[in-house]
Amino acid sequence: MKNESTLQPWQWQDEQWRRLVGRVRAGRPLRPPSWQGGARCAVALSFDSDHDTNELRDGGQSIGRMSQGQYGNRQGVPRILAMLKSANVKATFFVPAVSALLYPDEQRRVIAECHEVGIHGWIHERNSELPAEAERELQMRSADTLEKICGVRPVGIRTPSWDFSPQTLAITKEMGLEYDSSLMADVDCYELVMDGADTGVVELPVEWIRDDAVYFNMNRFAALRPYTPPADVYDIFKREFDAAYRERGIFQLTMHPHVIGYRSRIWILEELIRYMRGHEGVWFATHADIARYAKAHAG
Ligand SMILES: [Zn+2]
Repeated sequence: MKNESTLQPWQWQDEQWRRLVGRVRAGRPLRPPSWQGGARCAVALSFDSDHDTNELRDGGQSIGRMSQGQYGNRQGVPRILAMLKSANVKATFFVPAVSALLYPDEQRRVIAECHEVGIHGWIHERNSELPAEAERELQMRSADTLEKICGVRPVGIRTPSWDFSPQTLAITKEMGLEYDSSLMADVDCYELVMDGADTGVVELPVEWIRDDAVYFNMNRFAALRPYTPPADVYDIFKREFDAAYRERGIFQLTMHPHVIGYRSRIWILEELIRYMRGHEGVWFATHADIARYAKAHAG
């Protein structure tokens, strides 16, 4: 360890960079020949209900930014749930424990409407900046908190900001969670390998390309002003779905109630669901159901 901190990366022995890379790797692909009921494509829609924790995680006290978070609860989630219900689509909501404590009724409604609630940190903390013991304690306390509020024990995790420390997978495995959805090594599910050994934990991979926040986030006090037009975001997501359908794979999407839940943007989701519904053999399911199916039926 001492060598590692004093040497520059270009001075490292091969063993050092091999060990870092080998900590968490994509292992066996988990790609079933077809999906539930002979479906051709699996659609995994997810919503990260960060709400006020986006401000709180950095110790922020901006009332304005917290009001944006509250919009996620007051307007975003209800609009999303209404749309999912009318289209008969199941989805997964990854919820920081602090969001769940602030808005317990929202989580109970999500569960009552047959969606999944998964772990998304305590207060949207950055795992790679935490002491290992704090990360473990927070991940376990988050699961307990969600279970207490929802009445269902979560079986999957999405790390906040997809930030994954060298300890994260060991904690996830220790907790007996079935899947993670924070990493990006494939388009199909795969088994996570830690230090060369299979873990049994399924990865349902994400990508920034399929995340609403990168196209719409803005910060008044920084230079962050992407503001991609909704029609362009729809076009990107549609192309991702078209290829997943062609390849008989998974179309996975990450959205945020406080980002997608606006009048001009919820259109993207509505239009996308309508478009996907127009295809034969599309299975809309929770992340847990897709991860389980992929593991059980992988060729
Ligand atoms: Zn988040």
